Amino acid sequence: MTPKPEDLTSGSFSSPPRDAKHHLMKRDGLSMPWGSCTICQDEGLQYYIAHILPRHDRERFIGYQNAGLLPADVTSLGHLDVLIYLCSNCHGLWDSDDPRLVIIPKNIEFFIQWEEADYRRREAEANVGNPPPQRTVPRRDDYDGGYAWYYLSDRRLPSYLQMLAQANRCNVDTKASPTALILKAGKAIGFPLRQPDGHGISHDVRAQLCQLFNLWERPPPMSEHASILTTETQTGPSDLKKDRSPTDDDEPGGSKIGRRGEENPSEGKRRRTGSQNASQQDEAEDDSLRGVESWEKEQDFLFGPHMTAAKIMERLG
Ligand SMILES: [Zn+2]
Repeated sequence: MTPKPEDLTSGSFSSPPRDAKHHLMKRDGLSMPWGSCTICQDEGLQYYIAHILPRHDRERFIGYQNAGLLPADVTSLGHLDVLIYLCSNCHGLWDSDDPRLVIIPKNIEFFIQWEEADYRRREAEANVGNPPPQRTVPRRDDYDGGYAWYYLSDRRLPSYLQMLAQANRCNVDTKASPTALILKAGKAIGFPLRQPDGHGISHDVRAQLCQLFNLWERPPPMSEHASILTTETQTGPSDLKKDRSPTDDDEPGGSKIGRRGEENPSEGKRRRTGSQNASQQDEAEDDSLRGVESWEKEQDFLFGPHMTAAKIMERLG
């Protein structure tokens, strides 16, 4: 029977819900009624309800939530979707500061493709003028590609895990939140092992995890319209004046220096054949060296702001 929503989380932010043990055993198909370990499947040991995400790092959890990296209904560190049932041996390796035991989906490509499709959906919404919707991530029932455990330490593989590995029993069955498991594994991928011993994260898996994290780190999509506005804002107000009429250029404080090199020749020529009045001379004095150089290179122009009246007369003659 599917747990009722009120059974999934507790009143406390990080405490497991009431009867969590029972729900976790049913969810992950563990031995009933006493339980077994989700990773090593061992029976008869002491068991713990383990947090997938660090239970004391509320700020990190809220950061994941705000980025949409957890299902929207996972609102606390005590939610059943971010808990897992482990034996005391696995729990010790799982809960160390740098996790030595992690669970990673076998099909990471599924999450990469989900994120890319979801980003396109958010972009499409933004492009029709709507605020970009929040990211969605696969929920526990969206992914059925299976999981495997990885041992991440330069120490020898503990004998009980060694036996599992030799028996090719590295698979894990769980219906915990897959992205919570991936985020947990992310804590471990930054530590290169000297002796991966065949049970560390392979180069391919590490590359896929990094690719997924890079996709997750992208800023929210913006509409094409907003993108144009942002570009204009970033390049400064002077660029907004590209389409202004020539008379606008005489406004006090109008910035002309940076645009000189970008003007089309006919527009530049039209402006520069005007009379050399006082405001233009002031403008010339304000020009940067770049502006002066651009004038010197434009040999096809008849007049320029640096020309004296005598020079103009000479050219006219
Ligand atoms: Zn175990």
